Amino acid sequence: MKSAVFMKAGQVTVEDIAKPTIQAPDDVIINVVRTCVCGSDLWAYRGLEDKAAHSENSGHEAIGIVESVGSDITTVQPGDFVIAPFTHGCGHCAACLAGFDGDCQNHSDNFSDGVQAETIRFQHGDWALVKIPGQPADYSDAMLNSLLSLADVMATGYHAARVANVKTGDTVVVVGDGAVGLCGVIAAKMRGAKRIIAMSRHADRQQLALEFGATDIVAERGDDAIAKVMTLTNNAGADAVLECVGTELSNETAMKAARPGAIVGRVGLPHEPKMDMAASFYRNTIIAGGPASVTTYDKQVLLKAVLDGDIHPGKVFTKRFKLDDIDAAYQAMTNREAIKALITID
Ligand SMILES: [Zn+2]
Ligand SMILES: [Zn+2]
Repeated sequence: MKSAVFMKAGQVTVEDIAKPTIQAPDDVIINVVRTCVCGSDLWAYRGLEDKAAHSENSGHEAIGIVESVGSDITTVQPGDFVIAPFTHGCGHCAACLAGFDGDCQNHSDNFSDGVQAETIRFQHGDWALVKIPGQPADYSDAMLNSLLSLADVMATGYHAARVANVKTGDTVVVVGDGAVGLCGVIAAKMRGAKRIIAMSRHADRQQLALEFGATDIVAERGDDAIAKVMTLTNNAGADAVLECVGTELSNETAMKAARPGAIVGRVGLPHEPKMDMAASFYRNTIIAGGPASVTTYDKQVLLKAVLDGDIHPGKVFTKRFKLDDIDAAYQAMTNREAIKALITID
């Protein structure tokens, strides 16, 4: 079967590799219908993160059809249409029960890899997989894209809003205009935010942020961005801040945009782990966030919201590619020609 392979920084190719098989009783083999490239895949592609040459692709978002299941699997069966989240919670450890299945305490291998492929082995699939009613043919192209976003970006944006405790009437700042930041705008609106200030410098992303519910756009960066946020909030700062980038600058901006006592919900993996602990102390800033609880949110709110047509997170997929053209998909995201690149599998 075909699978994307990470060759080296700047090059991802497609190779024929052995089709995965059931290895453990809680494995599920899934034939992928749609997958995509994630902003997090670009760290290694840009050469900013070490990754072995000629290694498994880092793709971790897919929807597909179950082909076979291990003997412990009771929740899905061959033929089922499923969301394959990037997290693999068990559903019954303390972390999962508290709604933090991104940190499942029973699974050390809690994250997906290698799903930019025709067929994948999904480990610990019994609780983590999310069943979609019907079959792919029952859904529009746009709806399939929204369902795919529930494997990561929409759930991750929702996680930022949840851990930042966004609630009715809040003023929220969203730092980051990638797919996750844009989904954070959707999540803030779902949770009743009154004012949603999106930080974005790109016209296509600003447009989508407004469509998703942003009330204000801040195109400035750094201290100029903070000055603008302060003007927009009568010098108060935001009740909640969603940090969806993970750089030192974006974290600093997020901390400064928060009013005293506000929560910064972080879903951008910190690649430059420096933080001014004194600054957060003097402002009573609460720092929250981490890997998203994908299965929890999909099952509790997001799948229904997509199926009911209340949210349209699939709009973040602005370019599509065949698996054979995976390198062009990575390039499109690296060059910011696509907000998020969709990969369709025949
Ligand atoms: Zn991702
Ligand atoms: Zn668990």
